[in-house]
Amino acid sequence: MEKERIKLLLLLPADAIHRFKVGNFKKSLRYAPITLTYLAALIPKDLDIDLKLLDEGNESINSINFEPDLVAISVMTGTSSRAYTLADNYRKKGVKVVMGGVHPTLLPDEAALHADTVVVGFAERSFPQLLIDFQKGKMKKFYIDREQMPLNKIPIPRRDLLNKKDYITINTIIATRGCPNRCKFCVVPYVWNKKYFRRPINDIINEIKTLEGNHVVFIDVNLLEDDNYTRELLTALIPLKKYWFGLSTIKALLNKAIMNLVIKSGCKGLLIGFESVTNKSLISLNKGFNNVAKYANMMKILHDNGIRVNGTFLFGADADDKSVFEETVKFVDRIKIDLPRFSVFTPYPGTPIFKELEKQDRIIEYDWAMYDVEHVVFKPKLMSPKELEEGLHWAWKETYSIKSIFKRITGTTSILGVILLTNLGYKYYANKLPKYNKFIMTQE
Ligand code: SF4
Repeated sequence: MEKERIKLLLLLPADAIHRFKVGNFKKSLRYAPITLTYLAALIPKDLDIDLKLLDEGNESINSINFEPDLVAISVMTGTSSRAYTLADNYRKKGVKVVMGGVHPTLLPDEAALHADTVVVGFAERSFPQLLIDFQKGKMKKFYIDREQMPLNKIPIPRRDLLNKKDYITINTIIATRGCPNRCKFCVVPYVWNKKYFRRPINDIINEIKTLEGNHVVFIDVNLLEDDNYTRELLTALIPLKKYWFGLSTIKALLNKAIMNLVIKSGCKGLLIGFESVTNKSLISLNKGFNNVAKYANMMKILHDNGIRVNGTFLFGADADDKSVFEETVKFVDRIKIDLPRFSVFTPYPGTPIFKELEKQDRIIEYDWAMYDVEHVVFKPKLMSPKELEEGLHWAWKETYSIKSIFKRITGTTSILGVILLTNLGYKYYANKLPKYNKFIMTQE
């Protein structure tokens, strides 16, 4: 008997801010997420699949003409409400729905209320298996895989399925997964079961060789964590003569040998989690390995070597009082962070800090659509939720005033146009952010 063709929709839902396209999130300034192309690459070759990828940040679900038999949705906490609405609509029409990703891994029972199948943990083994089971009409309610996941021989993402014009680049890649640190606000250690996984260097280099253009973007949350692995990876990147961008901790960059290799291997931009400009807040966030006294010199070395920095700062740590906003804004101007980003402490459901704050009666918001790190969902210790929210908005506006932008990017020689453009994108975002209240954030 001939096997039936499966019409499969791989769906990445977007929260209201991304769906309604605010400021720097307009499609021309986004790089391609890897989730959908990676899931597409995991589809067993012998299955007959009619495939559609939908990244809601770029394309409206209402504009597609595709009637799926099966929808697989990758869900983050901030997009979970949206994902549930879409899933419920599909299921009403008799379409089967699979959910996986960060949020279903942390709250599988909740996701199961809106899905026929929930993938908990890694998708590498579960996703191909559930497709085979679907074809046999035997898909299970849960596929759980949280053990060791060797990253050797993972497939190359199906970038050919993307429309290049939708993104600033489709050259996104991963080298590692997870993180061995335990920063209080971070969901990563709990999603990847407190482990850190490394891909074989040769596999990464071979994948990079398949990419068009002269650049590559590592989207690993903590690329340079393991010194030996980092040295090997960066050394292997040198002969490729590509520009690369990625995320790094400060502690990695304070290691001179690593910093030299970062420079030598063609790094042009880093996203760095500074989080706070005071050591007491860093300690309260369990990120004491950042060292405020070293920030300025590190920034100077990076700038002197043509490396631009997207620096992230977080407000609302237990040690933060109302002075944190002004102090941070002055600091980012002084050390010339090229592209600062501000967020508020967000205790993700399913993590120990969420339970701890819940016990202390400090969780004030249970609509996950508000868990986008730009809305206050808990009671801070040394200020009110309103003061935290207003301080966040003030910091964004102040930092993206024309005066501050020019103060920060003066002296920038390399990629000045890009830095200016992205700053103006963030300026637009900073002005719009206060308008994104609960009414809008929870719009379906
Ligand atoms: S914030 Fe960064 S360093 Fe800290 S746990 Fe998360 S990924 Fe690791």
